[in-house]
Amino acid sequence: MRGVLEQNGGFFIEFEMLAEMENALQQLFASGAIVIIAAMAKSCGKKLCQKFRKYGFSAEESIEKLCETLDGWNWGELNFSNIDAELGMGKFSVRNSLETRVRKVGNNFGCHFLSNFMAGFLSELFSKNVTVKERRCASWEGRTCEFEFQMVGNGE
Ligand SMILES: [Zn+2]
Repeated sequence: MRGVLEQNGGFFIEFEMLAEMENALQQLFASGAIVIIAAMAKSCGKKLCQKFRKYGFSAEESIEKLCETLDGWNWGELNFSNIDAELGMGKFSVRNSLETRVRKVGNNFGCHFLSNFMAGFLSELFSKNVTVKERRCASWEGRTCEFEFQMVGNGE
């Protein structure tokens, strides 16, 4: 495993450890923890898109590469549909989202990290302020989470 992680410039975190990080943040900041996680996730999503753009990928290629990357990271299997790049809107689903596999305390369900990560990525990709809403989370039923995204404000 170490070889693979070294090659990809990363390190390993167990689901359990990720849950523990979230729990610790919640103990310290209560509902403020969600805002902190959202800010971190959004920034990371932006960064990944910037990296793809540096390689000269088009928007379609970036989305393709994103699906491939997140699947490789074991974050879940992404599927996009109805993308309108002009309007900065569309849908995607995620099968086996990482957050549905993390045991969370309290009633903090839903894929907050992933939603915000994707909002950061898509905002960067479309050069618009894009928000992501999770319409259905596998934490409640099924294995697939469903998301919608759209541009907010005037795009600034
Ligand atoms: Zn979910």
